[in-house]
Amino acid sequence: MLLPFGTGGGNSAIKMLEKITVDIFNDSSQNLLEKKGLKKTKLRLELIQHFKEAKHAQAYSDLKQALVSDVDKSTLYRNLSIFEEVGLIHGINDHTGVTKYALGSEPSSGHGHAHFVCECCETVYCMNGTTELQFEMPHGFKPKNVQTIIKGICANC
Ligand SMILES: [Zn+2]
Ligand SMILES: [Zn+2]
Repeated sequence: MLLPFGTGGGNSAIKMLEKITVDIFNDSSQNLLEKKGLKKTKLRLELIQHFKEAKHAQAYSDLKQALVSDVDKSTLYRNLSIFEEVGLIHGINDHTGVTKYALGSEPSSGHGHAHFVCECCETVYCMNGTTELQFEMPHGFKPKNVQTIIKGICANC
């Protein structure tokens, strides 16, 4: 039987544990690419810089609009997927079906941070703190990541 929440008395379903990785936000774009063993292309430097300045998660259309470099869709997506693979950014799947990306990797092994999805403007924001959902996994199930989506109305709407 699946138990949606912690079974012990007084356990809250969502525990705020720690802040999202800070290194990525403080290190220079050049350093980050170097540390991840990635070539420092103009587009990648521009992408990281843009993610650092972005106030909310970025969809393809946001990136396309913000980038100075003229880049085709497949090149952009290829770079996003490389960034995601090395943990520079993480993808968020909200109800729109359009993946949005934000700086920082998701902590692994069943932990993640929550995302706020505005029902009005469809903007996605990363929330500080880590969420830990306490599920009782049936035998043989190995959870890899937890995506918590908080729906509501953002401050701009
Ligand atoms: Zn909004
Ligand atoms: Zn996030």
